[in-house]
Amino acid sequence: MSALAEKEWTENVIKQEEIDKYLINGRDFIDERVIHEKLVNNQNPDKQQVRDILQKSLSVERLSPDETAALLNVKDEELWEEMYQAAYEVKRKVYDNRIVFFAPLYCSNLCVNNCAYCGFRKDNKAEKRRILSMEEIKRETECIVDEGHKRLIVVYGEHPLSDADYIAESIENIYSVRKKSRYGPGYGSIRRVNVNAAPMSITDLRKLWKVGIGTYQVFQETYDHKLYEKLHPSGPKSNYLWRLYSLHRAMDAGIDDLAIGALFGLNDWRFEVMGLLYHAIDLERQFDIGPHTISFPRMTPASGSDISKNSKYLVSDGDFKKLVTVLRLSVPYTGLIITAREKPELRRDVIKVGCTQTDASTKIGIGGYSEAAEGQDEDKQQFTLGDTRSLDEVIRELAEMGMITSFCTAGYRCGRTGDKIMGLLKNCVEGKFCKLNAILTYREYLDDYASEDTRKVGEKLIEREMDEIKAAPFFREHNLVEKLEEYYERICNGERDLYL
Ligand code: SAM
Ligand code: SF4
Repeated sequence: MSALAEKEWTENVIKQEEIDKYLINGRDFIDERVIHEKLVNNQNPDKQQVRDILQKSLSVERLSPDETAALLNVKDEELWEEMYQAAYEVKRKVYDNRIVFFAPLYCSNLCVNNCAYCGFRKDNKAEKRRILSMEEIKRETECIVDEGHKRLIVVYGEHPLSDADYIAESIENIYSVRKKSRYGPGYGSIRRVNVNAAPMSITDLRKLWKVGIGTYQVFQETYDHKLYEKLHPSGPKSNYLWRLYSLHRAMDAGIDDLAIGALFGLNDWRFEVMGLLYHAIDLERQFDIGPHTISFPRMTPASGSDISKNSKYLVSDGDFKKLVTVLRLSVPYTGLIITAREKPELRRDVIKVGCTQTDASTKIGIGGYSEAAEGQDEDKQQFTLGDTRSLDEVIRELAEMGMITSFCTAGYRCGRTGDKIMGLLKNCVEGKFCKLNAILTYREYLDDYASEDTRKVGEKLIEREMDEIKAAPFFREHNLVEKLEEYYERICNGERDLYL
């Protein structure tokens, strides 16, 4: 593609009217002055105030900005221990002991932007550029399916060659893959494709909706207008508002499963937690639906990026656990994603305070699954990973911690999305359906992909889950025990993809 064509495409990405329609009195929903005031005005909250706030979280109500600012200001480590415990209880209440797995698939690292923290940025000449063909995407998908995954997040740089048509075509190709399962009968496939890609127009987002996009994920990186401007010197991403309202446009395009996030390490972490909360509040206010998930990637060293290595705001492990805890307490209904960027010990720790989704067997080099190389190459991938263990190993570890892995994608396929899932999550009903579907999909995984050791631990866990279900009035009253037993039996006999 010629430099002129690329420039012309870049200049036409942003549709100003698709920003203006969401502004209130010409303003967006992030006011730095108000956020700083809230953080200052809620310093030194007393114990009782904090405990009252925890009670509100435990009743699965979203917290206000003042309440969140108070939690962010807690200094007393004993009180933090109470907060970790409450966060864990909120998670158990809404999502039970389930954890959902996904695999990222990087399709292209071509990019017209110049984000200071990212190895893919246009001016980074050290980066080896590559965009996968549809055949290559299918090959990558086969490798991921071979591990036992059912969900993907596909990731793209922003470039005319990886525009909405390319993204839609890649989603269709991923869904078309069927691969004979490793041990069990039948075939494995990807049942849900989530997308992490640049902000798009409503017309382009409709193209993704038509081919069955799962969740659409865009991270604001930093909610601070001025800092954002500094870190994004050129390309469409330099427009803060185009990005801030990308998920509002997605909603208008029919995509109602949305994921927000901030890149932690660019700015004071407390400020960014407040930004995420205001984002959730604005989505609730304008559409009655909050974010399906929140992500909090910690910036990791990237090829040719100084700031990714020496920013003064890099977040310590201790503060990371705190920020995850406050997000869990502030937005109790939302899913929280912890990724393989983090080391195993920290992953274990934050899963305990409320994360609901994670990845494993992760490769983030372009073509990294099918062209497996030893080690990680900084110039071929966006950043370095902290945890390179296989899906089987991580699932086994979580089972030993009492957590059941769910590959369930039923909610999306029986209309439990958007405002419907929000209601179910807030009333803690979704967690119950998921408990049943987790068992069914876990059984599939154990038979089709698990090692002998994982199968043994997993089967014990299933027994415990079954006992809990039989003892719980909710499942008996809704005649779900018989149904579960029938489906479980059918899966053991080789049927696949049954859900309640
Ligand atoms: N190009 C699209 C965009 O920027 O929205 C999507 C792909 S981009 C590779 C996905 C995310 O990677 C970004 O939103 C950013 O938060 C994250 N990221 C970029 N550089 C990173 C780094 N050095 N460490 C960790 N995450 C990073
Ligand atoms: Fe491109 Fe996204 Fe990386 Fe920015 S974060 S350089 S937009 S791939």
